[in-house]
Amino acid sequence: MTNPLRVALAAGRFCYVVELVASALTREARLLETASGLARLPQVVAGSVTSYAGGAMGHDPLRVAAAARARGLTPNIHLTCVSQDRGGLRKTLDDMHALSLENVFALTGDYPGAGDQPPVFDLDSVQLVHLVDELRRGGKAFHVTVAVSPFKYTEADCVYQYVKLEKKIAAGADAAVTQVGWDARKLEELKRYLDARGLRTPLLGNVYVLGPRTAERMATGRPPGCWVSPELLAAVRAESLAQDGGRQARLERAARTVAVLRGLGYAGAYIGGTHDPVQIAWIIRRADELAPRWEALAAELRYGPAGGFYLSASAPRPRHPRRDALPRMLEWLGRALPVTRDTPLRRALARVFAWIDRHRPAAVLLEHVELAIKKPLFGCQACGNCVLGHLEYVCPQTCPKQMRNGPCGGTDNGRCEVVPDKPCIWVAVHDRAKASGSLDGLKTYVPPPHRQLRDTSSWINYFLDRDSRPGPGGG
Ligand code: SF4
Repeated sequence: MTNPLRVALAAGRFCYVVELVASALTREARLLETASGLARLPQVVAGSVTSYAGGAMGHDPLRVAAAARARGLTPNIHLTCVSQDRGGLRKTLDDMHALSLENVFALTGDYPGAGDQPPVFDLDSVQLVHLVDELRRGGKAFHVTVAVSPFKYTEADCVYQYVKLEKKIAAGADAAVTQVGWDARKLEELKRYLDARGLRTPLLGNVYVLGPRTAERMATGRPPGCWVSPELLAAVRAESLAQDGGRQARLERAARTVAVLRGLGYAGAYIGGTHDPVQIAWIIRRADELAPRWEALAAELRYGPAGGFYLSASAPRPRHPRRDALPRMLEWLGRALPVTRDTPLRRALARVFAWIDRHRPAAVLLEHVELAIKKPLFGCQACGNCVLGHLEYVCPQTCPKQMRNGPCGGTDNGRCEVVPDKPCIWVAVHDRAKASGSLDGLKTYVPPPHRQLRDTSSWINYFLDRDSRPGPGGG
């Protein structure tokens, strides 16, 4: 069975993917009617079926996807890390394979809203791509799309998004879709970032058909990672006073954005905010007409914040203070007492920890001692699978989504999506890495922890090679 998404991207033919929001609010029959309409548009190569959009349960994406395909629309299924452990994710991928559903959009997912069970985030999105790639190497055909947000306006948020995209690509991502945003400079920045590194991964730009209600919501930073500037909000409000409620103006903005994407060399557009086939067809036609004017249109698509961070800005980067004392001291200790490779000291300590491990009371005492030291220093949560040394001595378990490979797309100017009055932990990781000149180290893949090690001593697990850590044999 051919996969039009894969084929169009491989051929370098500008293509369209349209988001089908499989939320509980949309009748499934209606979604499928839409799928039939979209299947009649040759430029639309896939319908992207959401799962858990906005942090709430919707229709079963696999059922919707299979039904959409039966109506002629190739599905691209959102697979999020929310509330599924790695066994559940593997099972979903196996089910997809059994149904010959090839396209997977691998996402971390939004944090569930209040009132839900405490969420499981067993894997992060980079680890999920690894999992899909592992299955692919086992002979199961998958085409993996990932997300990236160039619309981050602080240095740490922005740089980490790009670093994380590189990790996803290294893990096996086939294509990337941007977060929603209305800033051509950022769209260009992302494209240049990949080009400068020789990364040819196709990019699809998110083109959201923005109405007044969604604009009001996004102006407050909801859903996480989506942001509408005051200027854009004012424009949308003004448009909505027109007789058609601003419909024509928002379709025109979408078509202009598509024209800009084409001019910048994007591989396609990912359309959200409408899945009405008539409107999508209009956007496609109008974008074709506008294509020659893309540079002028890009100059108008400038809804970033004043003073926001751009990688390409010629102004010197702000200097960071000296590195924190604690990571410096721990690193010095690590050099003075080498245990990360096979040394006499490591062998001696391994014997000591093996003895402790065999004597339960001693092992329990060590667990308490370790926690008593690490909790006040790092907020340790006794995962038993420590990777502090790989993350600038910031504990990944203090991230509400427990990610190990960088921030999710929900950060807001360096603030956490889940606890907005707290800084995102990955800002500290970035800043410390930058201060020590080791930003490249952030590209290291950190595998998921072994959950069965929870509430055991990570020191024992480390010396007895039970844990999971970066590097050969570390998975
Ligand atoms: S990574 Fe695990 S062991 Fe290390 S500080 Fe965090 S919770 Fe504790």
